[in-house]
Amino acid sequence: MTKTALIIGGGPAGLMAAEQLAAAGLDVTITEAKPSLGRKFLMAGKSGLNLTKVEDTTAFLTAYTEAQKRLGPILDHVPPQAVIAWANDLGADVFTGSTGRVFPKVMKASPLLRAWLRRLAEANVTLLTRWRWLGFMDGTHQFDTPDGPRQITPDITIYAMGGASWRKLGSDGTWAADFAKRGIALAPFAPANSALGVSWSHHMLPFFGTPLKAISLRCQGHITRGEAILSQKGLEGGGIYSISKWARTGADVFVDLAPDRSHEDLETVLTKAQGKKTLSNILRTAARLDPIKIALLQECARPLPSHPKELAQRIKSLKLPIHGPAPMDEAISTAGGVAWSELDANLMLIKQPGHFCVGEMIDWEAPTGGYLLTACFATGAWAGQQAARFADQT
Ligand SMILES: Cc1cc2nc3c(=O)[nH]c(=O)nc-3n(C[C@H](O)[C@H](O)[C@H](O)COP(=O)(O)OP(=O)(O)OC[C@H]3O[C@@H](n4cnc5c(N)ncnc54)[C@H](O)[C@@H]3O)c2cc1C
Repeated sequence: MTKTALIIGGGPAGLMAAEQLAAAGLDVTITEAKPSLGRKFLMAGKSGLNLTKVEDTTAFLTAYTEAQKRLGPILDHVPPQAVIAWANDLGADVFTGSTGRVFPKVMKASPLLRAWLRRLAEANVTLLTRWRWLGFMDGTHQFDTPDGPRQITPDITIYAMGGASWRKLGSDGTWAADFAKRGIALAPFAPANSALGVSWSHHMLPFFGTPLKAISLRCQGHITRGEAILSQKGLEGGGIYSISKWARTGADVFVDLAPDRSHEDLETVLTKAQGKKTLSNILRTAARLDPIKIALLQECARPLPSHPKELAQRIKSLKLPIHGPAPMDEAISTAGGVAWSELDANLMLIKQPGHFCVGEMIDWEAPTGGYLLTACFATGAWAGQQAARFADQT
C-alpha cells in the first residue's frame, strides 16, 4: 500500500520536503494555516530573493556558527550549486553578484513559487490551506479547518512551521507549546538578523533612511564591513543584522567611521589641521567624514574631545547607544527552536520516530546573504529523502 506523508507548513522547507517525498512515490499532503503558501518566501522576494551564496565551502559553513557541525553534512548534500540547479530547473534564470550572492534575474519570488507549486500539483501533492495544526494527540494530528476540526494520521510527518517572526505571514511559533508538552527540548526563540533600537535625538531626523557607508561595526570581537541604515527606531541593514546575534544579548556595539585609515594616520591629519579650521570643517576635510558620520559622532560622543588622539579614538571606535534588539516579530529570522539534541542525523525526532523537523523550526541561525533559504531548502530536501527511506523500511 502507498505510504502517506504529511507536511505541516507550506514554506520553502516544507515544499522542498514534499517534492522529495512525492518523487519517492509517497502520497503527500501539505497543510498550511494561511490561505496561501510561501508567504515569507514571497516577502523575501521583495528584497530580490537572495537564494544562496557562492563562496569557499569553509566560509559558507562558518556562517552557521554553532550549528555548522550538524548542518555540514546536510549542506554538503544540498550545496549552493544544487540550489542554483534546482532554481534553473524551475525555469528561473539566476545571476551571481560580485559578493557571491545569487538571485533570480527577475529579482522576485512569485514566478519561482508559481512554477514550484505547479510542479507539486503535477506530482499529485495535495495542498490544504487554512488548515491550522493544533497539536499531536493520541497518535493523531489535530487541525482547525474552515470545515471544523479534522484529524490526519499519516505514516510520515514533516514539521515545517518556520520560526517566530513576521507572524502575519504565518510563522508565529505557536507550535512550540505542543512540542514542549510532548517533552521535546526547545531553545528559546530570539530575534536574528534584527534591527537594533536607538532613541535618537531630533538632530538625527534628517538622516532617517540614509545609509552609513564605508564603516565597520564591531561587537564582542566580531567585525563586519556591512552598511547600517538609520531609521526612526534605530539602526538596520546588512552590517547591523550580521552583528545582531551578539548585540541582542546586550554586548556593546562600536562603529569605526574611518575603517580604511589607521588610528595613527587619522591622528596625524587631525593634528595638522588643528587651529586652522572649525571642528566640523576638520571632520569633513581632514578626517573625510560625510555629514551623516559627523552627525553620528556628535550624537554619540558630544562634547567631542579637541585633542587629536582622543578625537581619532572616537572616530575609530564610537560606542553606539543601542538599547536592545527590535521586537522579534520584525526580525528577518529567529534563532532557537527544536534543540539539535532532539534530532538524529536524519532530522527525525528521537522521541517520535517517523516525525521529522525542517527549516527555521530547528535551532540554527545564519546571517542574511542566502544562507537562510539554503539551509531551509537543504534540511527540507534531506529530511524528505530520509523520511522516504524510513517509510520504505517500516
Ligand atoms: C523580509 C524578509 C526577507 C528575507 N529575505 C531573505 C533572503 O533574501 N534570503 C534568504 O535566504 N532568506 C530570507 N529571508 C528568510 C527566509 O524567508 C526564511 O528563513 C524562510 O522562509 C524560512 O522557511 P521555512 O519553510 O522554515 O518557514 P516559513 O517560510 O516561515 O514557512 C512556515 C510555514 O508554516 C506555516 N505554519 C506555521 N504554523 C502553522 C500551523 N500551526 N499550522 C499550519 N501551518 C503553519 C506558516 O503559515 C508558513 O507558511 C527573509 C525573511 C524576511 C522576513
